[in-house]
Amino acid sequence: MSWHGRSKLPDVGTTIFTVMSRRAQALGAINLGQGFPDYDIDPLLAELVARAMRDGHNQYAPMEGVPGLREGIARKLEASYGLSFDPESEITVTLGATEAIYSGIQAVVGAGDEVIAFDPAYDAYEPAVRLAGARCVRLPLLPPDFRYDWDRVRAAIGPRTRLILINSPHNPACTVATSGDLDALAAAIRGHDITVLSDEVYEHMVFDGRAHASVLAHPELRARSLAVFSFGKTLHATGLRVGYAIAPAALTAELRKVHQFNTFSIAHPLQRAIADYLIERPGTGRDLAGFFQAKRNRLRAALAGGGLKLPPAQGTFFQLLDFSAVAPPGDAEFAERMLTEAGVAAIPLSPFYAGPIRLSCVRLCIAKRDATLDAAAERLAAFARRLERAGA
Ligand code: GLN
Repeated sequence: MSWHGRSKLPDVGTTIFTVMSRRAQALGAINLGQGFPDYDIDPLLAELVARAMRDGHNQYAPMEGVPGLREGIARKLEASYGLSFDPESEITVTLGATEAIYSGIQAVVGAGDEVIAFDPAYDAYEPAVRLAGARCVRLPLLPPDFRYDWDRVRAAIGPRTRLILINSPHNPACTVATSGDLDALAAAIRGHDITVLSDEVYEHMVFDGRAHASVLAHPELRARSLAVFSFGKTLHATGLRVGYAIAPAALTAELRKVHQFNTFSIAHPLQRAIADYLIERPGTGRDLAGFFQAKRNRLRAALAGGGLKLPPAQGTFFQLLDFSAVAPPGDAEFAERMLTEAGVAAIPLSPFYAGPIRLSCVRLCIAKRDATLDAAAERLAAFARRLERAGA
């Protein structure tokens, strides 16, 4: 039997994350590709999930999220940004950040609209825009530091522009937007009917004394933004698939119209457990910058002086690896060689660009046990030496 319908996303394949994880598993490689921790979660969280199920929280949760969890999120936002949010009208629990992004896009844009996104752009953005019937306008972040070109943004804004998608800390560039960037964004959209969708899932992973510049802490942007967060990242448990969206009441109402028919409501026992966890661990998220900065530094120290360069990540739990000194440009080819010849899986960056591009860096995930990072560094250092000898 074969299906002969028309594909709505003919050019979209399986995500690079799934492709690389499958390949890594098949080859028995160390997987520094798809972003997920390989260490245990806090046992308290596991205990609270079990308790929530034993206590009978096993039927539909409220559509917008369990009240206690939304209150916990409000407390957490207050602790992070010194701002208050109304759990009733401004906070929605979603199926990971991905659902918040998808539902947010469906809620705001439709046929004929344009959405601005920045390359390298996380791969979930454009398909969601296209499924809404809108068009994605992709602008580059400028190499080598992946900075915004605000002149170009202003020039790209037109009467059809309805949404701008930003992401900080940035996956996969590992950069962090500055408050100056947010000022420039606010100025660029002032007077236009444009909403901002801000993907801030790595909010707590900002290094070297930097502060995370959230759209929520920018009064002008807060009034027109939907900001997206992830407990999977903050609790080291990407399998939870529990995230949340923060937006002004009128925008939250539109988001919930989509959310209710997309996922309806999120796993009830998980929401109860996370609500309890936020009470028992009120400092949740605060140690993440130090934790991941130490991982970043460990990997960089292990590879220092070799042919593979690691420009220090400003944020996220990723780290770029620059191979320009040991191999020609071509990140997809290099990731494949790294996998098959060094036994280490990484994520190439070119899949996050709208057009074909041959880059000289790949992305590594540092949310791994020290032993995993050490073993990967050893393989990568030996691989770099082989490449250098072959090139010499
Ligand atoms: N956010 C994860 C990453 O960047 C991937 C999530 C996924 O595989 N869908 O690695």
